[in-house]
Amino acid sequence: MIAKQKKIKIVYNYVCPFCGALCDDLIVETDEKEIKVENACILGTSKILARNHGRVLTPKVYGKETSLEKAIEECAKILVKSKKPLFYGFSSTTCETQEVAIELAEKVGGVIDCTSSVCHGPTILAVHEVGVPSFTLGEVKNRADLIIFWGCNPMHAHPRHMSRYSVFPSGRFSKSRIGRKVVVVDVRPTESSKLADIFIQVKPGKDYEVLNALRTIINTGECNVKSVGGVDINKLKELAEMMKNCKFGVIFFGMGLTHSIGNYWNISEAISLVKDLYKFTKFGIIPMRGHYNVTGFNEVCAWETGFPFAVDFTKGYPWYNPGETDANSILSRRDTDAMFVLGGDPVAHFPKTTVEYIKKIPLIVVDPFMSLTAKIANILIPSAIAGVEVEGSAYRMDSIPLRLKKIVDPPEGILSDEEILKRILEKVEEM
Ligand code: SF4
Repeated sequence: MIAKQKKIKIVYNYVCPFCGALCDDLIVETDEKEIKVENACILGTSKILARNHGRVLTPKVYGKETSLEKAIEECAKILVKSKKPLFYGFSSTTCETQEVAIELAEKVGGVIDCTSSVCHGPTILAVHEVGVPSFTLGEVKNRADLIIFWGCNPMHAHPRHMSRYSVFPSGRFSKSRIGRKVVVVDVRPTESSKLADIFIQVKPGKDYEVLNALRTIINTGECNVKSVGGVDINKLKELAEMMKNCKFGVIFFGMGLTHSIGNYWNISEAISLVKDLYKFTKFGIIPMRGHYNVTGFNEVCAWETGFPFAVDFTKGYPWYNPGETDANSILSRRDTDAMFVLGGDPVAHFPKTTVEYIKKIPLIVVDPFMSLTAKIANILIPSAIAGVEVEGSAYRMDSIPLRLKKIVDPPEGILSDEEILKRILEKVEEM
């Protein structure tokens, strides 16, 4: 008897579709039964290996299983009837899907927003105001000798960031951990601060004051107070000296800075600090984006509509005013009569009052998994997992586009997000 040979497929340079670090050095080996993943952290590995856990496999309309055609028709009916449908999510999907979603939102005169409005929206507002002196993670790896993490905890949120891009790798001009100084600024000690040379603990809500004091010291050499934001002024002077004297420095910042008191002013002050440092050295700033393609939505939306998120098409042309046209503001004013969610989970992250309103309006969800939002959907359409079961494009946190690869087929009858949206768009056009 001849033993049946397993068909083994190895994918090199596979891009992990989990967080904004988009590590592109994974090796994935598949045969007909098993998948082996090399180089990924626990988050990336779980996304691939646990892809069948909590999966949705059949479309549902008002709780009853139905065909895909019927679900798409019902979905189109809701969108056509709605006066102001709200489209939300689009951060855990491909750029190709985002493009169709924007077209659909425009077609039905709705509003489209991504998860930026509850994470790095303030970063984008600050960039509108003061620009962004930035560079790529490749340049950080090759050149940076001072790494500052402010209001973020990469050891938990982006577990390979330090090893692949910022702290530990040897680059062309930088020499691994020994050649770099690492500073963590946060309101409490974290797993990341344990690895830092200097940890600066700021009082909650006082980041703006600390950034402003650093600018004062860098620009004038003095700051005539004993402490700022709970930090001894001598410690800030020490940090200011490190910043001025490094060869190539970078600030990575997270939601500890975007969502504490000061909001986008914190970010514009951090960017202005980086600009001040140009008098002395090379410095840059990069946001630690969470969802793997939230940056992609900002890019695609900006080149499609002129605005990066929270775009309102109800007037017949794109219009943007975060604080008014973002998903949470619209829901809290009860200013939408239907919601469409793909690549996001607002019920898990939005305030209770807005979630209460989501429950009262027709809710369409396209998701591979039974998320909290999917659980309360009126119409639920299962989709393939982008970057695992379908290929596509995504932008890394430093705005570098990368190609997501497919490693396995989706379950039978399950389409990609892009295909589902195209079918809904066709149905809307027919109606
Ligand atoms: S750090 Fe992020 S992108 Fe890299 S392997 Fe982990 S989850 Fe994936």
